[in-house]
Parts: sequence; C-alpha cells; structure tokens
Amino acid sequence: MSAPQVSPASNRSAAAPRRGAAAQRANTSPLARLGLHTDWDVALHLPLRYEDETRLTPLSALRDGAVVTVEAVVVDAQVQGRAPRRQLLVRLSGQSPHERLTLRLFHFYPNQRKVLQPGVRLRVHGQVRHGLFGWEMVHPAWKVVEAGTPLPTVLTAVYPTTAGVAQSVLRKAVAAALERLDWRDTVPPQELARHRLPALQASLRLLHAPPPEALASLEAGTHPAQRRLKFDELLAQQLAQQQARAQREQWRAPSLQRAAGQTDLVARLQAALPFRLTAAQQRCVAEIAADLARPLPMHRLLQGDVGSGKTVVAALAAAQAIAAGWQCALMAPTEILAAQHARKLADWLQPLGVRVAWLSGSQSKTERGAALALVASGQAQLVLGTHAVIQSQVRFARLGLAIVDEQHRFGVAQRLALRDGLRAGLQDSALQPHLLMMSATPIPRTLAMALFGDLDVSTIDALPPGRTPVRTTLLAAGRRDALIARVAAQVAQGRQAYWVCPLVEESEELDLQNAVAVHAELGAALAAVPRAPAAAPLRAGLLHGRMKAADKRAVMQAFAAADIGLLVATTVIEVGVDVPAASLMVVEHAERFGLSQLHQLRGRVGRGAAQSDCVLLFTPPLSPTAAARLAAMRDLADGFALAQKDLELRGPGELLGLRQSGVPGLRYADVAHDADLLAAARDSARRLLAADPAAARQHVLRWLGEAGNWLSA
Ligand code: ADP
Ligand code: MG
Repeated sequence: MSAPQVSPASNRSAAAPRRGAAAQRANTSPLARLGLHTDWDVALHLPLRYEDETRLTPLSALRDGAVVTVEAVVVDAQVQGRAPRRQLLVRLSGQSPHERLTLRLFHFYPNQRKVLQPGVRLRVHGQVRHGLFGWEMVHPAWKVVEAGTPLPTVLTAVYPTTAGVAQSVLRKAVAAALERLDWRDTVPPQELARHRLPALQASLRLLHAPPPEALASLEAGTHPAQRRLKFDELLAQQLAQQQARAQREQWRAPSLQRAAGQTDLVARLQAALPFRLTAAQQRCVAEIAADLARPLPMHRLLQGDVGSGKTVVAALAAAQAIAAGWQCALMAPTEILAAQHARKLADWLQPLGVRVAWLSGSQSKTERGAALALVASGQAQLVLGTHAVIQSQVRFARLGLAIVDEQHRFGVAQRLALRDGLRAGLQDSALQPHLLMMSATPIPRTLAMALFGDLDVSTIDALPPGRTPVRTTLLAAGRRDALIARVAAQVAQGRQAYWVCPLVEESEELDLQNAVAVHAELGAALAAVPRAPAAAPLRAGLLHGRMKAADKRAVMQAFAAADIGLLVATTVIEVGVDVPAASLMVVEHAERFGLSQLHQLRGRVGRGAAQSDCVLLFTPPLSPTAAARLAAMRDLADGFALAQKDLELRGPGELLGLRQSGVPGLRYADVAHDADLLAAARDSARRLLAADPAAARQHVLRWLGEAGNWLSA
C-alpha cells in the first residue's frame, strides 16, 4: 500500500516539532515527543497510509502478495528455533479444514502464546505469501475475535510515529482531539465554494477515518479532503506573506519620477546603447519605472535566464533614480562580478555625466576613505561594489535605489541585514530606498509565488535576438585526453574557452581535480600546439576563490581582452561573468554539480553570434539522479524548463537550498504538484485579509503558530 499524498513527505518528518520552543517543553508525554502539543497539532498529524480491514477475504480466495484481512481458527501454535531467531508458528484453518494459513510471529509475549489455543478465532491483517508450506503471513497484525464480530466500516489509519509511540495511542489521541476541537472554520464559506473545497471538520474527520471507497483517491493525493488541508496550509503561508507586505506598504520611499524630454537620462542611456532592448526587457523596465515613481518602497525581483540582459535593465533603473536626484547602489555577490558591473555601468553612464564610486573589501584604506567621502557627500551618484556597500561605515547622502545582483547568492540573513543596513545608511531614515533584486536562477512561477509571495516579480522571458543555442555534449572522463588535445587546437585557432574544475585544493577524500594541476596540464597542452614562429605564445589563465581580488580582476581582464585563450577556473565564474567572445565551456566532474549550477556555467557561453559548445565531462558510474540531470542539460536549453526539471528530480525542499533559507516548510502541499491550490490560496488570502482580518489572523495562528506572526517581527 503506497502512502497517500496528503501525508507529510517521509523525509520531511512530520514528527519533528513544529514549534521549537513550545510552552510545554517540560511535557514528555508520548505525544509531546512527536511534537504534538495542542489538539490542533494532533488533529493535523495525518495518517501516513491506510489499511483496509473493512472486508474479509476467504482463505480460498487468497492471492500471492495481496494485503488482506482474514478470519480463521487456531489449529495449533508452537515455538520454533532458539533466541534470537525464535518464532511462534501459528497454524490456522478456514471454513473447510483443508484451507490453511500459517502465521510467523517474531516478537511475542508469553501471555500471547497462552491465548493462542486451538479453536480460538483470529482476525489477521497482513500480506500473504505462497511458500513451500502453503499460505503464510509474516508478522501480521492480529487479534482474537468472537464469530460475527462486526468489521470496521472505515479504513484504519497508520500514523507517522517514532519508536515508542504506539499506533493505538495515536488513534485514541486523535479521536479525543477531534471531539474537543473548536471547529470554527477560519475560511469563509464563499471561499470554499469558489474553490470547491469541503469543510475543515468533515475533511479532517474523513482523513483520520475514511470510507473504503476513498482509498484510491487518497492514495493518488487527489481527494477533496486532502486538497482542503493543502489549501489551508498554503493559505496560511500566503496570508503571512501578504501581511508582511502590507506592513511594508506603510513605509515611504522617494518618488523617483522620470523627467520628460531629451534631457532625460534614461532616454539618453537608451539612445547610447549599442543594441535595442527586447520587448521583454522593455516590459520589465516599464514595470520597474512605475514602481520607482511611487512614493512606496519597491520590493521587486527581476528574474531572467542567464544572458537575458538584466544588467541593462538595472542600469536604466539606476539612471531613473539618478536623474531624479537620488543615489543608486548596486551590489554583487563576488568581487569579479562587481568589477564587471562597475566597468559596464561606468562605460554606459560616465559618458552621460554620472559620477561613479567603487567600494570593495579589498581596496586600500585611502581609496576606500575617498570613496566613502564621495558617497556621504552625495557626489557619487552610482555606488558599485560587493556587499562592502552595505557595511555600517557606509553613509549615503540620498540613497534612492538599491540593486542586488544574483540575490540568491546572498544568504537570507544577509538579505534581511540588507534592508536594515540600507535604512541605517540613510540620513533621512523616514524614507526607505527602493529595492530591486536580480536573479538568474529561474524559478518556476508557482515556486516563486510560494517563496516570494511578498515580492513583485518581473521576468525577462526571452533572450536577445541573434543567439545560437549552445550545443551540449556529455563525455565520459575516459575521453578527457582527446578533449584536451582538441580544446588546445581550437584555442590555438583563436577560440576562447572556459575549463571549470569543482575544487581548488586536492581533496583525497573527494578525488576532485585540482584546478592548479589542471591549469599546468592544459598549459602544457597549449604549449605543445605547433605555431608559427612569430605567433604570440598561447596562455592558460587560472582563476579560483583563494586568489587576491586584484589578481582575479587582472586575469578576467586578460581573458576579456583575449590575451588569454583558455581560462581554467573553479566555480567562481559561475554567476554573471560576461565575456561574449568565449564560445566553449568544459565542466569537469559535471555529475557533482546541481542543475542550476550547470545551467549557470553553460550560460557563460553562447553570448555572441558564434556557435558555442558546452562539454560536460563525467566520471562513471552515474547515479540515476546524476544521469537524469546530465540528460536534462543535454536536452533542455531553457532555464525555466531546467528549473522545473530540477524541482521534479530533487523535490522543492532542495531546490535553491530552501532548507537553510528559512522559508517555512510545507508539510502537506507540494508546490510542484499543487500549483492550482497555490493560486487559489493566494487569491483567497487577498480577499480574506481585506474582508476579515481577524479570521485571517486566526488562520495563521492555527497553522503557523506565533512563528507566522511576522507582523510583530
Ligand atoms: P544577465 O541577464 O545574465 O545578467 P547580461 O546583462 O550580462 O545578462 O547580458 C548578457 C549580454 O547580452 C551582455 O553582453 C549584454 O550587453 C547583451 N545584451 C543585453 N541586452 C541585449 C539586447 N537587447 N540585445 C543584444 N544584446 C543584449
Ligand atoms: Mg548578470
């Protein structure tokens, strides 16, 4: 019998306490050990699966492997073998004496053995096997019954539990809790009607004791009662997010209106760009522009696949803020990326008269002091850097807009600190700056809603024209030498390539390639390529996380200028690096990377008009998941399709490292499969907050406890 879908995913234990610091900490009752403290906790502790004991199967109708309930009479019972392999063999007979069934019981008490006297009638539930000695059941559930004892009319619930808490204890506790509960439904009837959902009380009662005919839909996870529970859970989550958002809307921000006419910085920047914005970029620019013009702080995520052109959208937003007389800060997670942004944005905006300052952890004291003074005086209009930009010494004169690139690379704690840091950095703290976050990790819409219900999302859903899709090849590590020779030959002909290794230092344990050794190896291969006497020597560059920032920058610049043809790197190049001429990406031990990481890496090529290639080197044997991941990389180009695949392969909990991100886990709903319910919950949450805030609050309390009360946080 497979687990019905509404039960908590087995790896995400429902037994874990939902409210860590529950008041009843001292309470060590069996229920408390399962984290069940209140009647609601108990009522929401849903069965893992069900057993159907509502029908008796005659011994004459047994089928091998079937799970059945039978009634039969004890013929004899005897102990066989010795401890620890002792077993009690109970022979039973059915309606006619030649219908036989043997039970093998491993754990039994002396008094149980005494009960099993010839002639006693047993009701037994378990799986039957046809063995050498006829029909057998190994360690079934059994009890003594009188002839004619009525059968249960509902399915028997089997609850998730840990050792020591018996099913019978849980069943009793659930029955008692269901009687005591205050069943006031926090979801108004019109919302239930709209989404065709049953009442909560009926749903919970059914889930704990369903009629046998419900079994199929329960196991499929489609029963209306299951949908009701998933809906309630999602509703609580959406309510909490929308409350947080409502709170933010109390805050004020500078209204960054665009000036009209030719002098408008935004228009001048657009006119100066070497390309035309795609329709998708234009739409995102307009969405952001409208937010910036409002006196409420923007809280928007700009997402778009790698290479979709988010930087220019950010630059246009920056131009709007600057034109309105405010400062703009742009932060990137790595120094390389920040430096690249600095160069690009400076190239675009400095010619238009914008003054730029650069802040990073690695600059000298004097450089930094000078930059800080420019920021504090308001002379620097655009401030670029790593998270050094939000450190406490940084004071902005008039910060109007903060842009965070690759926001998923910033931990949640950093993200929260960001807002506070920005507020502290403002001289007029009555106003909040607008916040634009950018992410190249495409998030399926359903998941984005679950994760970022309190964020507005703009999506660049098309790549700039003229891109040729990257050709992806999977190659077993046995062909590595041949690959090196080909790469060296192509680099000699002017192709630019990345070669990515997973770790910087030799780790015997993990047996990963050492970037330093690979660099030497590839350098030697390049040196061995025959060249014209006058030709410049071929060089391989090395880039890894332990290098000094200035050295990293120098290597990247040499690669961007094509002084270096081959760049051996660790995943420091994973996000954002933009060298349009590079057209070959090799990833070693590709099986050790996650899908989104591989997609990010592949996104470093295919940025120009040339045909680009991505070669994923793998070391067999592959686990089924790794094989599926690599096949997906070979077959899918679109980041959203890959993210969806990732969701299917890994489960939503692992995607984006959610577990450490502090997003409240969902116990029943699964955003990959319950998208319609998520949309319904989002929709209802909006109406409920407006129409009945008290019920909304009660709903959040019921489901999330005080933890859901983000309003006071
Ligand atoms: P990402 O979204 O990954 O941050 P970038 O902003 O780095 O992408 O843009 C990728 C490349 O595409 C850059 O070289 C950029 O100049 C270029 N680009 C951006 N928008 C367009 C466009 N509309 N037409 C042509 N090229 C564009
Ligand atoms: Mg980028």
